[in-house]
Amino acid sequence: MLEKLADKKLFRTKSYIAGSWCDADNHNIIEVINPSNKQVIGTIPNMGEAETKRAIDYAYGALENWKWTSVKDRADILYKWYDLILANRDDLATIIVLEQGKTITEAHKEIAYSASFVKWFAEEARRIYGKIIPSPIKNQKIMVTSEAVGVVGIITPWNFPSSMIIRKVSAAFAAGCTVVIKPSELTPYSALALGELASRAGFPDGVLNIVTGEAGAIAGELTSNKIVKKISFTGSTRVGKLLMSQAAGNIQRLSLELGGNAPFIIFDDADLDVALNCLIAGKFRNNGQSCVSPNRIYLQKTIYEKFIDKLTNEINKVKLGDCFDKDATIGPLINQASIDKITYLIKDAVSKGAKIFSGGSKAGEDGYFFQPTILVDANHQMEIAATEIFGPVMVIYPFETEDQVIKLANDTDYGLASYIFSKDYARIYRVSDALEYGMVGINEAIISNEIGPFGGIKQSGMGREGSYLGINEYLNIKYKCWNV
Ligand code: NAP
Repeated sequence: MLEKLADKKLFRTKSYIAGSWCDADNHNIIEVINPSNKQVIGTIPNMGEAETKRAIDYAYGALENWKWTSVKDRADILYKWYDLILANRDDLATIIVLEQGKTITEAHKEIAYSASFVKWFAEEARRIYGKIIPSPIKNQKIMVTSEAVGVVGIITPWNFPSSMIIRKVSAAFAAGCTVVIKPSELTPYSALALGELASRAGFPDGVLNIVTGEAGAIAGELTSNKIVKKISFTGSTRVGKLLMSQAAGNIQRLSLELGGNAPFIIFDDADLDVALNCLIAGKFRNNGQSCVSPNRIYLQKTIYEKFIDKLTNEINKVKLGDCFDKDATIGPLINQASIDKITYLIKDAVSKGAKIFSGGSKAGEDGYFFQPTILVDANHQMEIAATEIFGPVMVIYPFETEDQVIKLANDTDYGLASYIFSKDYARIYRVSDALEYGMVGINEAIISNEIGPFGGIKQSGMGREGSYLGINEYLNIKYKCWNV
């Protein structure tokens, strides 16, 4: 890792608590693996409850000052962090490639995406407005203000190791909260590099703390400690449910960005080239390891063969390879468990009538690579229809009518992203209204940015990140009734 970085101090291998880089109390460590070659990149402290409690205490100690700093001061520090992230984008992208396995081109996009949230929330910090409302009673003033929720526990996944942290933390900081972050043990170095840059940007000690280690123990402390007033989690629905039940003990506020099972509906009146380009871009972004990845592709029967032919041509151009090669389209999956899960899902689908049109198995022995795959003639009896695939597998389901495809698309516990391709405006209105999802891409597959409210319904979670709404997740409303 070190030899690839211009600024070697960005490769931090200790946890960051109250402005200091620390080992676990018992000096236990966890190895971090590069999924491209299965080699150990380095180690991180394997911390647990005691260290997490300490980090929470420091975050609480820092809260009183931080929440009452002026919004301008908070915004200025966020702007400094933004500048430092952009100035170090090459190193930050390199760290992502090495620990997570996306291509260098995509890693640069992730850093740009991350930075956009820091800038956005630096701007939003200045817009935490209140209201004065006319009272029904003479001589009363009704004032509504917002204030920081307090200490926030933040738990994030490996698939976007930089942006999933920043999307939460920059909103929390803008609101005046302090945080204890637990990054995924698979991709901790992006988080720690951001911690190093936050310290250079001038965030006071204790405002940002990063505890690496055993998920259950750290999350157990975050959810049972009464100082922590909110948990913001991005990850699987399974762990989201667990955290929701744990957070109930202290009625902690929750933001949950959970799994998806996105339908990608292509009607026969769509511009098929637009649909095809969007499908390739959406599906192969991060090798399919994205919560908004097209998971079920519904293709109207009248264009079924024609579209699959076009898709096969495009799939043949996908280049699987060295993540530092600028021409590579996709890199490896995150680990062996991911390969095993996808292999199982394909086997189950084939046993129930699906056909493998291309790909279908792992590629090479050095890393966790999997061939770009097309499965056709899928149906909802297959487990793959109900499961987030998280890999480069296109699963195609035929449909005949609009009503039928709406029912199929909504036939899932998830409700994060969905996509429609059509040129008929009336149909677009009808179908986008009928889809039970938090987000709908219309003739578009790249829908994530700092401006739009990102989030899901049903078992895809609650709350919104980014946008004019994102800061509210870290603010409590206070109503003052004043007899003047
Ligand atoms: P995950 O297994 O749920 O892990 C997410 C985080 O939770 C990691 O930090 C993990 O730690 C931690 N964790 C694991 N077990 C835990 C436990 N028992 N208690 C508390 N925390 C625990 O998810 P993942 O595999 O990392 O990420 C993929 C999932 O995230 C997918 O379902 C994807 O759709 C979802 N996701 C959603 C969004 C969104 O915005 N809706 C965005 C990105 C990803 P360790 O990794 O250290 O074990």
